[in-house]
Amino acid sequence: MPSCTMHGDVATGGVPMLSVQPKGKQKGCAGCNRKIKDRYLLKALDQYWHEDCLKCACCDCRLGEVGSTLYTKANLILCRRDYLRLFGTTGNCAACSKLIPAFEMVMRARDNVYHLDCFACQLCNQRFCVGDKFFLKNNMILCQMDYEEGQLNGTFDSHVQ
Ligand SMILES: [Zn+2]
Ligand SMILES: [Zn+2]
Ligand SMILES: [Zn+2]
Ligand SMILES: [Zn+2]
Repeated sequence: MPSCTMHGDVATGGVPMLSVQPKGKQKGCAGCNRKIKDRYLLKALDQYWHEDCLKCACCDCRLGEVGSTLYTKANLILCRRDYLRLFGTTGNCAACSKLIPAFEMVMRARDNVYHLDCFACQLCNQRFCVGDKFFLKNNMILCQMDYEEGQLNGTFDSHVQ
């Protein structure tokens, strides 16, 4: 059986980093442009780096110390945590089923997440303010009025929830 090769996960944008011993001609660092005279250097993105120079653009941590993978997007080099914070996703909006980027504010109800814009009664489109009551019925967000009306008319399967 051929073994399964790991393909770079396009969705995560992860790039492997290698700690290597320099051989041959001294390499220039892609970060500071100086020659690398250290015993070890990092090889990533087809370039060579001082261990000190390959840092996360957000939190400044030394990427060689936090793992063997760096993350890159839009010319930024990031650690996994910052990458996920900036470019990861929270999940799919339960109302419009589109992906929600991790940096976006969301509303949560039970296990569901919603875009702020999507968090409204799915019958009358009323938005909710802080303190307003909302109901989750058959996986639909409802305002109190529509919920109570539905209960009265028996619109909802009474055996659900
Ligand atoms: Zn450097
Ligand atoms: Zn970081
Ligand atoms: Zn949505
Ligand atoms: Zn409503």
